[in-house]
Amino acid sequence: MERTRPLLVLDLDETLWTSYDVPVMYGAERHFVLRPGLQDFLEQVGAQYTLAAWTAASRDHAQAGLDAMAHAGIPFTPEFLWDRDRCTYLRLDDGDVVYAKRLRKLRSRYPLERVLAVDDRPENFRCAYGNFVRVLPFTGSPDDRELPRLAAYLLAICGVPNFRRLEKRTWRDHPAAQAA
Ligand SMILES: [Mg+2]
Repeated sequence: MERTRPLLVLDLDETLWTSYDVPVMYGAERHFVLRPGLQDFLEQVGAQYTLAAWTAASRDHAQAGLDAMAHAGIPFTPEFLWDRDRCTYLRLDDGDVVYAKRLRKLRSRYPLERVLAVDDRPENFRCAYGNFVRVLPFTGSPDDRELPRLAAYLLAICGVPNFRRLEKRTWRDHPAAQAA
């Protein structure tokens, strides 16, 4: 029996790109810097996983980043694009605010055993650590190597029947990630 194709839910800001404001005559323009290896990552991982995107930012901001990708020759059409409106607003005891991504919203369509979520902010996944793969935040360095390593890791584990049982906090120690 063919195993369910796994779903990979990608964060956008500081995971696939970073962005900053550039002053222009009347205000500011948002500029996007794409993470090194982004095109290869999407091609390689997209061959094995269904790719989706979920950002805690606004729809307009997410679309602007996707437009910047297309402009750079890296068209990305995720299976679905969820934005802040799908997040759950939480105010923590210390007063901080979190836009939590509650993956159980997906479970009627995707078995959670075969869902992974990549994000630079663990606080967004307070209710879904079992599906969470944490990446370092991308800050614009051209030497960033996170995506090639992550792609190698994700391809190595894509056949695992239950991702939730995997210890993913140490993913960088996986031989595939080490070799990338
Ligand atoms: Mg992020």
